[in-house]
Amino acid sequence: MKRLVVGRGNIFANLLIIGEAPGLQEDLEGKPYVGKSGKLLNQLLSKAGIDFQKDVYFCNVIKCRPPNNRKPTTKEINIHKPWLLQQIKIIDPKLIILTGSTAMRTVLEINNPISELRGKWIKKEGREIITIFHPSYLLRFPSKEIEKPYDLTFKDLKKVSSKLYAL
Ligand code: URA
Repeated sequence: MKRLVVGRGNIFANLLIIGEAPGLQEDLEGKPYVGKSGKLLNQLLSKAGIDFQKDVYFCNVIKCRPPNNRKPTTKEINIHKPWLLQQIKIIDPKLIILTGSTAMRTVLEINNPISELRGKWIKKEGREIITIFHPSYLLRFPSKEIEKPYDLTFKDLKKVSSKLYAL
């Protein structure tokens, strides 16, 4: 772990994307979602019609890289959570995308399997929140067949795009 990775993007964006924790590339560059997962996420956002350079702010639940990319522990999540909640208040987005189960459990405080919750809008404290599969999961299961994770995620992002550009 070299540095804190706080966020990147437009701090005035209506859309906030929350990931799990920085990986190696994020740690090197000091920015979230700039490695392989981030590249795939950017591609999917563009394909769904979302201008990620102009209309999105990216951050993570955990602000520094866990050793060997392991999952953050509950203790680490609880330590970092106040910073995330403060960040959400400051960015004040209308829409939030939670990528993966760590972000989903931390923000929504729901422990259901991600396959049950993804793609559903949930309203919390005046914000519309949707969970999608983590892009690293799509890298592991890259099939583009209909109803497989890649296709489902693309459809979820199209829903976000429609809502975002109707605001
Ligand atoms: N990079 C990030 O910044 N967050 C993730 O959750 C995965 C990769």
